[in-house]
Amino acid sequence: MANLYDLIIVGAGPAGITAAVYAARKRMKFLVLTGDIGGQAAWSGDIENYTGYQFVTGPDLVSKFEEHMRRYAIDFHENEEVMGISKPIGLVKVNTRKGEYTARAIIIASGKMSRELGVPGEKEFKNKGLTYCATCDGPLFSGKDVAVVGGGNSALDAALGLIRIAKSVYVVNNTVRLGGDAVMREKVEKAPNVKVINEAKVTGIAGDKMVTAIKVRTASGEESIAVQGIFVEIGLIPNSSFAGPVERNERGEIKVNCKNETNIPGIFAAGDVTDVSEKQIIIAAGEGSKAALSAFKYINQSR
Ligand SMILES: Cc1cc2nc3c(=O)[nH]c(=O)nc-3n(C[C@H](O)[C@H](O)[C@H](O)COP(=O)(O)OP(=O)(O)OC[C@H]3O[C@@H](n4cnc5c(N)ncnc54)[C@H](O)[C@@H]3O)c2cc1C
Repeated sequence: MANLYDLIIVGAGPAGITAAVYAARKRMKFLVLTGDIGGQAAWSGDIENYTGYQFVTGPDLVSKFEEHMRRYAIDFHENEEVMGISKPIGLVKVNTRKGEYTARAIIIASGKMSRELGVPGEKEFKNKGLTYCATCDGPLFSGKDVAVVGGGNSALDAALGLIRIAKSVYVVNNTVRLGGDAVMREKVEKAPNVKVINEAKVTGIAGDKMVTAIKVRTASGEESIAVQGIFVEIGLIPNSSFAGPVERNERGEIKVNCKNETNIPGIFAAGDVTDVSEKQIIIAAGEGSKAALSAFKYINQSR
């Protein structure tokens, strides 16, 4: 077959990029299909737990990852999202809007995406003041009043970044108190320009051409809080809907064993899209390397 790859890697976050580095070093003929470069790692403001860096920003770490990967001549298709995969005997077929590709094996490293609020106004004002990435878009709201929706680590990370940029930050949290890491929580709660609203449910987004307010319901009734920016940080869902016959758990995470094998021979998965127990950059990178080595062994054995 003319255009048969050994391996296709889906995604170029920490897991996919690391898998690509390992695949390149094993001299595999492979293709990377991805939406973007860096994935969630690029959204993180301050990273203090990636060994070798006491402190690094997400975008800086991602540019180091990319620089490392680009040392190798890699067939790399950015902005090409995978829509579906199928598994005729011995091969894997991968479909995107731009074409169909065939390989002996695939690594799914497609990570997670932001969960949406599902309230009126959300779709209308997406990217018009409403965003899912504080690290990417926070600087656009310098001196403005903003709201962060959520109460876990992602929301705290967003709030901490915005405290330094925005005039005031409302944290709209639907539980009794904020969750997340104690150190981050204390910093948020102590900041003079933050107001935490607990046990609050977002009921809608209002605006004209851009966001002008967030509607929130608490025990005392519904109120409209004037803000120019809204950062939705209510969790993540795995990008696994295209994975067809691959077995997933109740959260939609792809089930893998310690060799990153799925229930289907030749289909491997790594990083946040899987049911691996912790979701961190260093873990995703390690899982990506392991998946590439497992795929390499599989390809050699099945030739
Ligand atoms: C705000 C925030 C802060 C964080 N801070 C830290 C931190 O300080 N330290 C830490 O260790 N971890 C942190 N994390 C977690 C860390 O970013 C993730 O664990 C890690 O990025 C997971 O890597 P991944 O490669 O598995 O997936 P992702 O980073 O999600 O990358 C997925 C990749 O797949 C691509 N993709 C998705 N769907 C498709 C498709 N259908 N076809 C093709 N490509 C696709 C995406 O474009 C992307 O390139 C943070 C996460 C968030 C959200």
